[in-house]
Amino acid sequence: MRNQLAEVLIEKGIVDEAVLNAIRSIPRHLFLDSSFEDHAYQDKAFPIGADQTISQPYTVAFQSELLQVEPNHKILEIGTGSGYQTAVLLKLKARVYTIERQLELFKKTNLFFNKMGYRPKNVIFGDGYKGLPEEAPFDGIIVTAGAPFVPKPLLAQLKIGGRLVIPVGVEEQIMTLFVRKSAKEFEKTELGSFRFVPLLEDKN
Ligand code: SAH
Repeated sequence: MRNQLAEVLIEKGIVDEAVLNAIRSIPRHLFLDSSFEDHAYQDKAFPIGADQTISQPYTVAFQSELLQVEPNHKILEIGTGSGYQTAVLLKLKARVYTIERQLELFKKTNLFFNKMGYRPKNVIFGDGYKGLPEEAPFDGIIVTAGAPFVPKPLLAQLKIGGRLVIPVGVEEQIMTLFVRKSAKEFEKTELGSFRFVPLLEDKN
């Protein structure tokens, strides 16, 4: 079923073999509540509790491809959620730092990582708008919730040559790639529209 899912993603335009191999190897059904297990290898988003969703596999693959992860890259993920995107980044041999603002999901996914033997460098309960200044700079930053604007700290925490992949917008988001060209210059590319749950500012 995972091979079939990879074929669907290839049809939709994903070409990065390392990303496709990650999709082929990660047991997505284990990241979902058991009631959705039967549907785990459809190219769809599903609820994961706390009003959040596990992103659609195509979206995970598309964002991962844009990030151009190389082994040992230091990557920051905003929105740990189910941990599926984290697992893809780990499979790409990145050193991953991941931030989640919902306590319930943070706890649940942390336990799950331990159980599964997934080893991100750190899982942080906090606000992704601020990034993670103490670990900056990063080779890549990936935001997995819809951001109403581009948080300045995330751009500031990129290495020169580093990449920020962020869906920007409120109702609908434009997938946006920023590549840091120098201390002050960023190259911006827009790559089509997507729908994400919102990147929230206040904690509750
Ligand atoms: N990468 C996840 C996608 C989860 S959906 C996966 O593969 O399953 C987006 C996640 O972003 C949700 O878990 C949501 O709680 C979280 N989120 C929303 N606003 C946030 C913020 N300001 N900082 C960190 N995480 C946030």
